[in-house]
Amino acid sequence: MAVVAYKCPNCGAPLTFSPESQKFECSFCGAALTEEELKNIAPATGEEEKIPASQGAKDGVEVSLYICPSCGAQIVTAPTTVATSCLYCHSPVVLEGRLRGAFHPDLVIPFSFDREEAQRRFFDWVKKKRYIPKGYFESGSTEHFMGVYYPYWVLGCNSWAAYTARANQVRVWRSGRREYTETRIYKIERDGQIGFEHLTRCALTGEGNKLADSVMPFEIRKAIPFQLPYLSGFRAEMRNIEQKSIEPVFQEDVEKYAQQILDDTVQGYSSVYDQNIGVLIKDMNYKYSLFPVWAFTYQGADGKKYYYAMNGQTGKTAGVLPLDRKKLLRDCAALGTAIAGFIALLGGLFV
Ligand SMILES: [Zn+2]
Ligand SMILES: [Zn+2]
Repeated sequence: MAVVAYKCPNCGAPLTFSPESQKFECSFCGAALTEEELKNIAPATGEEEKIPASQGAKDGVEVSLYICPSCGAQIVTAPTTVATSCLYCHSPVVLEGRLRGAFHPDLVIPFSFDREEAQRRFFDWVKKKRYIPKGYFESGSTEHFMGVYYPYWVLGCNSWAAYTARANQVRVWRSGRREYTETRIYKIERDGQIGFEHLTRCALTGEGNKLADSVMPFEIRKAIPFQLPYLSGFRAEMRNIEQKSIEPVFQEDVEKYAQQILDDTVQGYSSVYDQNIGVLIKDMNYKYSLFPVWAFTYQGADGKKYYYAMNGQTGKTAGVLPLDRKKLLRDCAALGTAIAGFIALLGGLFV
């Protein structure tokens, strides 16, 4: 049982997770099942096809073959894909075999809004941006709004932080014709425990990683224990970044946040310098999680492809927007400063 498909108990058509009703729905007869009801139904299954080594890579890209449980056609996937749909019958399939053991996710956040709503939110977002060429984004001009569960590592931990710094307190006053300056030099020490929860990093390398990181944060408090059927009707990717390789990244995050927290406790001096921090991380608790992202591309008039991503839980959107340079330059000239241009350029990047 390497691949599974969830079928409607009434008519046998595919069941997919509906963000709107938060139920598993049949688009053919309209049946809607809860997670509890779905548990009692055995899904249709198919096998993984063993591919001869010579055919295991197409154009240098590694692929795997599965048999569609609905129509028997071959399903070709990338090595990290764990949910997709059949190219021939469009049935959603979950590659259950890739979600076992250490690759069984701990948490999932189901999509909270559907494709139409994602499109609506995207155009709302675009409307608020200036300097986008007029008519560039007409409704429906984006291709492939695709719901993808991306893999993330979520870390909760405790830390012991020791912090030292020096600070000056300068006082200047006049007495008669003399000016006096008094500089008091302080040595500052802080140490203590800082707890962290829900530190999050994307667990997949490559194209999607930057976008997947840029739509954070997720409301992880609302995550639920992972269940396979939530992937039905969406694409899902499994991690290719292991806990060991993400650890130094989290170590840096913890140090950075600890420094910010302790910097904030040093107030009221004329200057603070020589900051030094040592952080010991303990009680690490990793959760392997799949979180929802609407991913889509737009083919620009200039032939360039623009990539966007939207947090499938909160709607936060990120991506590079095309710039109307003429409009931008005109506004800059009117203001007589390059600052407006600089800000607009920043605004066009990940926002
Ligand atoms: Zn049905
Ligand atoms: Zn099929």
